[in-house]
Amino acid sequence: MVGKMSCIFCQIVAGKVPSEILYQDEEVIAFRDINPQSPTHLIIIPKRHIPSLADLSQADLPLIGRMVSAANELAKREGIFESGYRLAISCGEEGGQFVPHLHMHLLGGRRLSDALG
Ligand code: AMP
Ligand code: ZN
Repeated sequence: MVGKMSCIFCQIVAGKVPSEILYQDEEVIAFRDINPQSPTHLIIIPKRHIPSLADLSQADLPLIGRMVSAANELAKREGIFESGYRLAISCGEEGGQFVPHLHMHLLGGRRLSDALG
């Protein structure tokens, strides 16, 4: 497992790597993706290092609700709440997860691809 110290998203949480932070509460933080795939492309993460969806415990499940709630709020702020948006969580190698810290993508601002995979 990649240690917390070398995790890019943990470094963003710790303020050691600069990012455009758009939202934070006690458990969740959101920032703009450095390589956006759509006009709005935000990353929403738990502050605590959880490697992936596959590592979620029962006790962690409310965190996903908090991430979705933050994403909905951010969609409003980004002006895409009415036009529509997509939330995506990749898990593991074949799921296309590159950063091993659980994260949700918020994508919108244009008509997104119909293909999901
Ligand atoms: P995934 O392929 O689901 O692991 O997505 C990782 C996402 O994190 C990609 O869209 C990257 O562009 C994004 N990313 C990687 N490093 C940073 C960073 N330092 N700041 C903002 N976004 C990043
Ligand atoms: Zn991390």
